[in-house]
Amino acid sequence: SKIEGKNQFQIYSPDMNLNSFKMFTLKNDLKKALVKEEFLIYFQPRINPLTFELTGAEALMRWNHRKWGIVSPIDFISLAEESGLIVKMGEWLLREVCRQIKGWLEQSINFEKISINISSLQLFQSDFVQTVSTILNEEGVDSSYLEFEITESVIIDREEHVLKTLKELKSMGIALALDDFGTGYSSLNYLRKLPCDTIKIDKSLINDILSNNETYDIFEATIRLCHKLNKSVVVEGIETYEQLSIIQKLDCKEFQGYLCSKPLKQEKFLEFLHLGKWT
Ligand code: C2E
Ligand code: CA
Ligand code: CA
Ligand code: CA
Repeated sequence: SKIEGKNQFQIYSPDMNLNSFKMFTLKNDLKKALVKEEFLIYFQPRINPLTFELTGAEALMRWNHRKWGIVSPIDFISLAEESGLIVKMGEWLLREVCRQIKGWLEQSINFEKISINISSLQLFQSDFVQTVSTILNEEGVDSSYLEFEITESVIIDREEHVLKTLKELKSMGIALALDDFGTGYSSLNYLRKLPCDTIKIDKSLINDILSNNETYDIFEATIRLCHKLNKSVVVEGIETYEQLSIIQKLDCKEFQGYLCSKPLKQEKFLEFLHLGKWT
């Protein structure tokens, strides 16, 4: 009948076919991507909102797929977590970031830290701290140049093991940041529990800050709370000068956002590093 025909059309829309076909092939190709060296690292500058100086960057993974081109981590990180491949990918990322850091330091370039995202599956590995320590030693990079970004979801399972691991990383000299703050369930409890020095405020908290008074009040109170707990605040997703002027008043230490820069390829980021400043 006509009605069935219409439903079928909705289910098999060309758009959905392409997307599910893409996810299907990505899942299959992910296993080979590491060996084929198809992963890339982009760097998004972290900027001091008052001086516009570059403090460092967040390393973000990209996949240069031979058929689909540059694939976003939104499309492959969860696949990598489901299959467990994220553990090896994370090791590769850490080693590559260490090599970059070493190269920049050899050129006498000045920066504070490079942060990398750590998946909960990595923290669940019993040898994670040992692996990190081995990579840092082999690459000859000082732990003080690194920050690990974690989300509060890490603590939902195996709380004791995760807290122990985080404390060990911290005592090794690696800075810890709580990522995506303001998006989870019981954030206030984790703010106290997790041994993080830095809180990264999620983009969703500043999205409609200029058009909505309540949103502004929540944002301001969140930042005050972080400061009261002696946490340094990074605001993510700054896209306008109006948003920038708000965080300048609220004494945030750093921001990231398209207003200043999208995540950049290594060569482009190197130019930024040489300038040392957002101009
Ligand atoms: P995230 O850690 O919250 O990273 C920030 C994301 O926000 C990045 O997307 C960045 O490009 C985007 N962003 C930054 N500024 C703006 C802005 O002003 N406006 C908008 N609309 N977006 C902005 P990206 O690179 O696509 O990464 C997405 C997520 O993928 C990351 O979110 C992180 O959860 C995950 N991810 C990326 N690389 C890795 C990795 O190496 N390991 C793990 N475990 N996860 C990763
Ligand atoms: Ca992050
Ligand atoms: Ca984030
Ligand atoms: Ca995220």
